[in-house]
Amino acid sequence: MFAAFLTGIRQLEIRETPEPDLAGPRDVLLRVGAVGVCGSDVHYYTTGRIGSQAVTYPERVGHECAGTVVAMGHAVRGLRPGQRVAVDPLIACGECDQCRLGRRHTCRNQSFLGSPGQAPGALAEVLVIPAECCYPIPDSMSMVEAAMVEPFSIGLYAQRLAGGAPGAKLAIFGAGPIGLSVLLACRSAGECTTYVTDLVDERLEVARLCGAAWAASPRVVDIVAAITELEPLGVDFVFECAGKQETLDQAVEILRPGGMVLVVGIPEVDRVSFPIHTLRRKELTIRNVRRQDGCTAASIDLIANGAARVDQLVTHHFPLARTQEAFDLVAGYRDGVVKAMIRPGESEIEPLGSLSHRRAGMTQ
Ligand SMILES: [Zn+2]
Ligand SMILES: [Zn+2]
Repeated sequence: MFAAFLTGIRQLEIRETPEPDLAGPRDVLLRVGAVGVCGSDVHYYTTGRIGSQAVTYPERVGHECAGTVVAMGHAVRGLRPGQRVAVDPLIACGECDQCRLGRRHTCRNQSFLGSPGQAPGALAEVLVIPAECCYPIPDSMSMVEAAMVEPFSIGLYAQRLAGGAPGAKLAIFGAGPIGLSVLLACRSAGECTTYVTDLVDERLEVARLCGAAWAASPRVVDIVAAITELEPLGVDFVFECAGKQETLDQAVEILRPGGMVLVVGIPEVDRVSFPIHTLRRKELTIRNVRRQDGCTAASIDLIANGAARVDQLVTHHFPLARTQEAFDLVAGYRDGVVKAMIRPGESEIEPLGSLSHRRAGMTQ
């Protein structure tokens, strides 16, 4: 089979590699249908590391995936060959203190698909994973929507951590796939007023499509002044999805006393700072968000019933052979890209579909 391998900084090759075997009785062999390109994949591609997690070349990446069951071990229940599934890329040990506390996402012995040295990435034609990672999807759901389940589940998890009351006022800083997933999750949870910012105009446009009440670029607008004018008492929650010191500072400024900032974005730096006296006087809560926990099934339901239109986030499609083009596109924030999808099962895909093309129905 063919799979994508990182082979150096900004180097990616499609190589032939032996098809994996079912290793254990609870394993499932999937034919991969779609894989979303995540910011973290691109980070490994451009810098070779995220924090202390460093790539040893060659390395396979990719974790936002969906596929069709081809074969399975004898102990697998509830799946059948031909079944289409969304994948939760986390493999937890089930035995450590965190797993016992019901916190599988912070499992001390976890492996995550496509994380260096943990489990092979999903950017391949075939993947073997534990059955517990496979969530059946309804016939009505496309492979691409199913591959959006993982990033959307992070937005849903962040929304649930905030636990916003009806009518909540909230800001989302960073309108990439995760910020927009937060937006869709909050909109699906009930009435709320949402303020969204991003540097990329096309992303603001998608945010408006997804129901943002207000969307603006910090290049054009003084974000703190503009939101404070509209919400003089401050907002209830800020979802920081940009991973920048600047957006953390804005969050502290625009939150009402007793408000909460949810840190969803992954900063490129190792340390950030907060103005402690403002935090203290306003008694703000800083809530860190590590991927997601237990939101996969609910995400499938919200996408399947149309409450969360994740298809609005998918702007580009590529065959596996053109994975590097997709990574370069995402790394450069070019052509209005929000989510680029790799389609390992298909070779004949229109590679570039800009927002305008997509609206005109010219891409799949
Ligand atoms: Zn991801
Ligand atoms: Zn564990």
